Amino acid sequence: MTQRIAVLGATGSIGDSTLSILADHPKQYQVYALSGHGRLDKLFELCQQFKPSRVAVPEDKVDEFAARLQQANLTCDVVGGQAGLDDIAADTEVDTVVAAIVGAAGLASTLTAAKAGKRILLANKEALVMAGSLMMKAVKDNGATLLPLDSEHNAIFQCLPPEVQQHNTQIHDASYGINKLWLTASGGPFLYKSLQQMQTASVSEAVKHPNWSMGQKISVDSATMMNKGLELIEACHLFDLAESQINVVIHPQSIVHSMVEYCDGSFLAQMGSPDMRTPIAHALAYPKRITAGVKSLDLYQLSALEFIKPDLEKFACLKLAREAMQSGQEATIALNAANEVAVEAFIKEQVSLTDIALINGRVLDTMHQRSSANQSVDRDFRGSIRTLDDIVIIDKLARIQAQKEVAQCLS
Ligand code: NDP
Ligand code: MG
Repeated sequence: MTQRIAVLGATGSIGDSTLSILADHPKQYQVYALSGHGRLDKLFELCQQFKPSRVAVPEDKVDEFAARLQQANLTCDVVGGQAGLDDIAADTEVDTVVAAIVGAAGLASTLTAAKAGKRILLANKEALVMAGSLMMKAVKDNGATLLPLDSEHNAIFQCLPPEVQQHNTQIHDASYGINKLWLTASGGPFLYKSLQQMQTASVSEAVKHPNWSMGQKISVDSATMMNKGLELIEACHLFDLAESQINVVIHPQSIVHSMVEYCDGSFLAQMGSPDMRTPIAHALAYPKRITAGVKSLDLYQLSALEFIKPDLEKFACLKLAREAMQSGQEATIALNAANEVAVEAFIKEQVSLTDIALINGRVLDTMHQRSSANQSVDRDFRGSIRTLDDIVIIDKLARIQAQKEVAQCLS
């Protein structure tokens, strides 16, 4: 049967990779809906190519975009803003939602898809960093399926026993012998550079990833290793493990995409070329397999595979992420928000690359102090967060604080 797919964030890097696979398998998948934000010319071209039934654009662009489609004789329902994204995420015609919007902007529609019981292919790691427990509960309560697209999490998923993959048993079930997860990290463009060189790095140097081609924000996050920090938090929620059960190891070749360590000494690893089409194709077809157009790994050409312990002084963001995960959800929301503001300021050349960790750390400290001082609030830094509104409030507070820290760096 044909799966009807909504690609939210269709104009981005994950959107590109997803649509290239869908284009290769038209009998199995129908592109039912797409969304874009700033790159609407690209979205228009995608509409011409895939002829979706629905498309979401920013609220103030709905009329203009609808007129443009009409002129091109394309019949397509155009919806706008957050309500439009939510409407598509919950559309009864949609089987699978690819959650590929970047940052906090992707949270609400992913949660909507979970509440609507969809099969969710999750690229938007921020949704779990901000709302891990809420999201996992919504998935469970509504019979949704959450399949990770992030290459490391997809690799771990592939290395888990099928009973654990399908939630027929818990990952903690001792008879399955899962000891630890190992998240691999490339180390980014500054792995072999000094902290001093990171301090003076330009935006173009920071986004030049050695192995992966990705959107700008995640590329900066890879340079600071904040990306691995976010992935650590993502993995804790996805696989229901404490941060102490997840190790991070730098593997500069990006061939081993992550590993599961078992009690008998076995390490199961998933390997392949660093190409996002592999995890996307895996999740699209799971539990079956489809071709992804990915170059086969030439093992004869591979040089040594290295594994290195990360330097947490140089990559302070990774340390902050571990600490935030230990503190609780309020801290992970604050860290994600601070980081989004700091990365944007770096891209605008307002702060240096190393200022990002500084800003993130200061925001976490301030939020922690504020939370400890405010006993009247019905949650503390370790407390549980019950609604999306709770999350939005903490996110906003952290952003305001981060803007102050950016201003401090500027002065
Ligand atoms: P891109 O920047 O390439 O694409 C982001 C997408 O989100 C675009 O479609 C963009 O629209 C849309 N978007 C941006 N802001 C908004 C907004 N406010 N409202 C609605 N839509 C918005 O990012 P990536 O594809 O690289 O990453 C997407 C997600 O996947 C991120 O969460 C990232 O961490 C994750 N990820 C990415 C990987 C990769 O290899 N790229 C690997 C693993 C995870 P437009 O372009 O039209 O402005
Ligand atoms: Mg990743």
